Amino acid sequence: MKPMHGNGGAAAPARPAPFQPVAEQAQVEAYSSEIRQLARERNAIILAHNYQLPEVQDVADFVGDSLGLSLEAQKSGAERIIFCGVHFMAEAAKILNPEKRVFLPHIAAGCSLADSISPESLEDWMERYPHHTVMTYINSSAEVKALSYICCTSANAVSVARSLPSDKILFTPDRNLGQWVAHQVPEKEFAIYDGVCPTHDVLRGANVKKTRDEHPDCVIIAHPECRQDVLELADEICSTAAMLEKVALYPETKTFLVATENGIVHQMRKRYPDKEFILADGCIGCRLHCPYMKVTDLSHVLRALEEEVFEINVPGDVADGARQALERMMAVPRD
Ligand code: SF4
Repeated sequence: MKPMHGNGGAAAPARPAPFQPVAEQAQVEAYSSEIRQLARERNAIILAHNYQLPEVQDVADFVGDSLGLSLEAQKSGAERIIFCGVHFMAEAAKILNPEKRVFLPHIAAGCSLADSISPESLEDWMERYPHHTVMTYINSSAEVKALSYICCTSANAVSVARSLPSDKILFTPDRNLGQWVAHQVPEKEFAIYDGVCPTHDVLRGANVKKTRDEHPDCVIIAHPECRQDVLELADEICSTAAMLEKVALYPETKTFLVATENGIVHQMRKRYPDKEFILADGCIGCRLHCPYMKVTDLSHVLRALEEEVFEINVPGDVADGARQALERMMAVPRD
């Protein structure tokens, strides 16, 4: 069979037919079984974010949010981590597991939010707010983390802010998450950087209201990267992992409007097959779609195992600084 990717002239191993964007079930099964076998042979763990393609989620050993994936990477005894997510997540896994080899299956899996803040722009804000403690969302580069006192995820941001001894916080880089945290922690003063996740920021309250009007008995679950006008309409505001738990709190509710990237709906439907999950913009895959999360398909996961690409490494001094910020976060007990 003709391989999809070059392998430097070595004899091509037999593998399933080239992967198509809309995968046939037989092809998914062929790729998945080869991936699972290679992962065993190479002592690799496959981690997938909740926003990945459904078939990538299904082939993974663990599916979760940024915090869950970081914790899983730390406790795994595997020699290799295949990180099906975006670059900053694989970087965080490497920083927390320097002895393991970490691979990102697709080199173009970046993040607009992480790219919205550079070390130079953070230093500029730090000069403007010299008495503020820098608290940085995990959706950021290793260099930016290394300049920060502490990291947070959407799952623990409120607990992290409350835990800080300082009453002045410079929150970076997500403006919407920062404003939501500031609202939960009114006893502290926040300066908030002006980055956003375009996948979440594009959603407007008016779209959510329109969709809700079509499903008047629904429960709205939103990610805190959404704008304030969306969050004001939400019944639950939480990380993707917590969204899966929150559904169980509404046994009488049939329909849920989901205000986050569409990949989470796959896990929701698996866990709650009797419920109905609708994207909050009423348009599956149109706006609530992260192009970076969706570049990785099963052929890339297979190639990562076979060809050991793309290995993520972080320079020692940067990794040390970023690790401190991440470990401070992980030491904070959840409220
Ligand atoms: Fe980055 Fe937003 Fe995509 Fe997450 S959904 S990877 S924050 S662009």
